Amino acid sequence: MGALAFGIAPAASGGHYWYCSGSTPWKYANYYINYYNGAGGDYYNIYQEESKTDSNAWSPYTDIYLNQVSAAGSTDHLNTYAGSYGATGWLGLASIESNSGCTILKGTARLNKSYLDNGSYSRTNKKHVACQEVGHLFGLHHTSGTTCMNDQILNAPYPNSHDRDAVNAIY
Ligand SMILES: [Zn+2]
Repeated sequence: MGALAFGIAPAASGGHYWYCSGSTPWKYANYYINYYNGAGGDYYNIYQEESKTDSNAWSPYTDIYLNQVSAAGSTDHLNTYAGSYGATGWLGLASIESNSGCTILKGTARLNKSYLDNGSYSRTNKKHVACQEVGHLFGLHHTSGTTCMNDQILNAPYPNSHDRDAVNAIY
């Protein structure tokens, strides 16, 4: 129940990028991305930890810099939310809601409290999903190993060195 899902189906590929076209991954224009955290309660903290404040969060661990802003945006923005979205089949969802070619203008990550708050998921599990959805928006596909980008596990709430190298290769 509640498999992790992309908002947009990735192109069939064995690579670790979320491909837009051919070998071009989806990505923001550059490493400096406006970040709006619209989640409430502890989900706000979970996104903050995974995005910016954990030592191995995306923003300090890779070349990405998330510039926190106070309102959602659609021009060069990564917006994060948590809500009770119902029996959607996904714990978390990464969606590209506005783009110019393969450049993301508005990316959105959502965590589904309908599953995540049903008593079956630990805070670590929630952090894993948050980390993964944000990672998708940087252009990463699922991978294996001890990393939040592994969609077969839920207990590694951080990117690994492979993810860091993959992100840094495109930003
Ligand atoms: Zn995923």
